[in-house]
Amino acid sequence: MKTHVLISGAGPVGLVSALKLSLAGFKVTVFESADQLNMDLRASTFHPPTLDMMATFGLTDQLISQGLIARYTQQRDRKEGVVAEFDMELLKGETNFPFRLQCEQWKLTQLIKKQLDKNPDVKILFNAKLESVTQNNTEVEANVKVLDETQLFKGEYLIGADGAWSSVRTSLGIEFEGFTYPERFLVISTTFPYEKHLPKLSFVNYCSDPIEWCVLLKVPSLWRVLFPTKVDESDEDVLSDSSVQSRLQHLLHQPHDYQADHRTLYKIHQRVAKSFRQNRIFLAGDAAHINNPLGGMGMNGGVHDAMNLCEKLIDVVIHRKDASVLDRYERQRRSIAIEYINANTARNKKMLEESDPAVRLKSQQELRAIAENPKSAKAYLFKTSMLDALKKAEAIL
Ligand SMILES: Cc1cc2nc3c(=O)[nH]c(=O)nc-3n(C[C@H](O)[C@H](O)[C@H](O)COP(=O)(O)OP(=O)(O)OC[C@H]3O[C@@H](n4cnc5c(N)ncnc54)[C@H](O)[C@@H]3O)c2cc1C
Repeated sequence: MKTHVLISGAGPVGLVSALKLSLAGFKVTVFESADQLNMDLRASTFHPPTLDMMATFGLTDQLISQGLIARYTQQRDRKEGVVAEFDMELLKGETNFPFRLQCEQWKLTQLIKKQLDKNPDVKILFNAKLESVTQNNTEVEANVKVLDETQLFKGEYLIGADGAWSSVRTSLGIEFEGFTYPERFLVISTTFPYEKHLPKLSFVNYCSDPIEWCVLLKVPSLWRVLFPTKVDESDEDVLSDSSVQSRLQHLLHQPHDYQADHRTLYKIHQRVAKSFRQNRIFLAGDAAHINNPLGGMGMNGGVHDAMNLCEKLIDVVIHRKDASVLDRYERQRRSIAIEYINANTARNKKMLEESDPAVRLKSQQELRAIAENPKSAKAYLFKTSMLDALKKAEAIL
């Protein structure tokens, strides 16, 4: 009898878990509350270690063929231009993919689903919303509303990869500790070719400004421009044509309106679940930790959770290691979520929005000095590309 793992959520974290476990010989059932995979523009950066991991499934070349290789990343000042440029090729030898891949997250989930569909031991149920979970010492039970009917599913383990509002986390009564920022983030996607108008622009640009910082990210067919909102702006105002045009015109004046049909406005939180494991049930990805997107660590960190957890489930079930191995998942990944992912993304935001001129100048001088010296630039990139986080996690016993 194959060990059966139930997974709540068919986002990147749920599907990477399903793929890893099914390839190791597990039976897997994935519940997805929506009627299809999410196709929204969300995360759009794959960091080098995530590409190394996806290469073990033969997926990285396919992602690269659908994405953009960003060899350089830039820290800019909105008025002055480039402050520091980092060449990710310095990471050669540390990873097989010394670059950021700019590629929409839905392309990963689509590719994984294609592989999973070929495996008779994997079922992905759409319109299937997990409502609650229970467990004893040998199995887990999930109450899942499939269309209009609540059904009971049984398995040996369950992974809650059901996003920020995780029903698994709620059902287990696990606190989601942290805070929500008062402002929201607006992402405008436009076909406007910024690269032809802003000198020396790379595909990944963090632009600091004491009044309105922004991030300019390229994906294959679009530029994505991320702005913070003012705390007291209504959603309606932020999303209105006039306000969208005014933000874009203020960034770069053009004699015509920008094409900017696609807009996403969302709340930003820094939260980590109090626990990532309750006996046979685990939390991973956004269900376990959420953070601001500055640094592109949400989806990447979630995929790293999935790989870490599934390797341990494989160790316990297939290689007959002691179940206490599973506790290390929480020790490693919860520490990384708090001390690395949330700490760095919060620091990135603070640096972009800093309004004290002396502090801004000092941090720009520091960044410039780091970028100019290959040794310190490599150490900086080792950290920002999340290679450092994985090395730190490995050292946690
Ligand atoms: C609007 C938005 C914009 C974002 N933009 C960026 C960005 O620009 N850059 C960046 O780095 N990150 C961004 N993120 C974060 C990034 O998308 C997440 O970190 C990443 O999707 C986490 O993957 P996940 O699989 O853990 O969760 P998700 O991708 O959220 O997947 C969870 C899945 O579970 C399903 N689900 C939820 N509840 C249930 C249930 N009870 N039963 C069954 N299924 C359920 C959901 O439908 C969903 O498909 C954004 C997130 C959001 C919400």
